[in-house]
Amino acid sequence: MDQEKISAYFDDPARRAEMISAVSRLVGVKSVRGDAEPGAPFGPGPRTALDEALKLCAELGFAVRDYDHYVGLCDLNDKPTQLHILGHLDVVGEGTGWATDPYTCVEKDGMLYGRGVSDDKGPVCAALLAMKAVRDLGLPVSKNARLILGTDEESGSEDIAYYYAREPYAPQTFTPDADFPVIHIEKGHYCPEFGASWDRTAALPRVSGMTGGFRRNVVPPEARAEVLGLRAADVAPLCPAVENRSGAVFTVTDMVGGVRIHCAGRNAHAASPDDGINAIAALLEVLAALPLADCDSTRIIGGLHTLFPYGDNRGRALGIAQSDEQSGELTLNLALITLSETGFSAQFDARVPLCADRENCAGACEAALERYGITVTKGGEMTHVHVVEADSPLVRTLLECYETYTGVENAKPIAIGGGTYVHDIPGGVAFGCDFPGFDPKMHSANEQASVDNLLLAAKIFTLAIARLCK
Ligand SMILES: [Zn+2]
Repeated sequence: MDQEKISAYFDDPARRAEMISAVSRLVGVKSVRGDAEPGAPFGPGPRTALDEALKLCAELGFAVRDYDHYVGLCDLNDKPTQLHILGHLDVVGEGTGWATDPYTCVEKDGMLYGRGVSDDKGPVCAALLAMKAVRDLGLPVSKNARLILGTDEESGSEDIAYYYAREPYAPQTFTPDADFPVIHIEKGHYCPEFGASWDRTAALPRVSGMTGGFRRNVVPPEARAEVLGLRAADVAPLCPAVENRSGAVFTVTDMVGGVRIHCAGRNAHAASPDDGINAIAALLEVLAALPLADCDSTRIIGGLHTLFPYGDNRGRALGIAQSDEQSGELTLNLALITLSETGFSAQFDARVPLCADRENCAGACEAALERYGITVTKGGEMTHVHVVEADSPLVRTLLECYETYTGVENAKPIAIGGGTYVHDIPGGVAFGCDFPGFDPKMHSANEQASVDNLLLAAKIFTLAIARLCK
C-alpha cells in the first residue's frame, strides 16, 4: 500500500533531519521585499532566496528553472503537467519581540522558530520533500507536478501574475500557504473609498480634524480627533459608557481652543473584524454624542455614526448585510478615515459572500451614503468570490489524503474571508500546512512550525501528488 510506504519513508529519522536542514537553509535568507534591481524584481532578498531554493531543488535531483527571477520552477518529471503546487519564498519583515534570531532557524522541543518557518518556507520544503518521496518510492505517475516557488506573495503576488500572464494554468493547483483541511471558497472584496467636501466654517463647537487606521485590511487600532470649542471636561464624561461597551480606551486632553481625543482599540485582520476593537467606530460614538454646532462636519460625523455604529461588523446599518450557506456572512471593517476643515475621505474593507451583487451590495451602499451627501470616489467595484466546488475531484482527493494520515473522518472544506495565493487561479485551492488548533504565529514574533506537522504534511502531499498525477 502506497500510504504505508509513504508513512515509513517520512518516519525515518533521516527525513526529519533532511526537513530541518532544508527549512534552515531557506530561513537563513532574509527575503523581505525590497526595491527592484536588475535581475531582482522584488529586491535582493527574495532573489537570494530564489537562488538558494533552486540550488536545493537541483541538489535533490530535480530539473529547475529560474523564470525571469519572478518565480522558480521545480518539476517532478518531464511528462505533461497536471498539478501546480504554489509556495512562496518571500517573508514579511521580522518586527520586534523575538526570543531568537529570526533569520536563524532554531529547533527546540520539536518546534522550529524563525521568520518563514510556517509562512511559507516550511510548507515549501514539505512539498519539495513530498515530490522527492514520490520519486524515491517509485510511486507510479504519468503526469508532472510542478512546484512553483514564488517570491512576492506577501506584497501583491506580482510574481505569479507575471508567470501566469505567460504560461498556462495547470488542470489542478493547490497552495500549501494556509490551512488544512482544504479552503475552497474565498470571499470577494468590496473596498470603496468615499468622501465629501464642504466650505470652511467658524461654527463652534465643531470637529476640525480626525484620523484613524493605517491599512485597509487591518481593524484600526488607533484614531484621534480634535474638537474646537469644547473642553476636556465636556468630553471625558461621555467616554466611560463607550469604553465599557467596546473595550476601547480614550484619552482626552485640552489644547488651545479645544480638545484632543485619542482612542486606542485593537487591531485584527479585516476578514475577522470581530477579533478587533475598531477605534474609528468607537471614536465616532463619542463624537456623535457631543453638543456640536449645526455644520457640515457635524452632519458627516452623525451620518458616519449612523451608517457604521460600533460593533456592526456586518454592514447592517449600511444596508448591505447578507449571507449564504456556502460562503457565510458579509463582514465589514471601517478601516481608514481622514477628516479636515473642508472635507473627509474614508474607506472600508468588506468581504462579500457569493450572494452579494452590484445591486444588493455596491448599489445599496452608494444609496445609503448618498443620503448624507457622501459619494464613492474610488474602488467601487466588487471582486469575485473564488469558489471551487466541494465535490470536485481535486477537493475530494485532497480531503481523502488528509483523512488518511490524520484519522479525521468526514473532513469538510472551508470558506474564508481572506484571500490566498490561488484567489485568481481557476480551480485552485489552499491545502495546508497549518493543522486546526495550531497557532504558527504567522507574521508575528517567534513564528513557529512543528517538525512533526511538517512531516505529516509531507506524507499528505506525497499521497496527493501520487493520486493526482497517477
Ligand atoms: Zn504565505
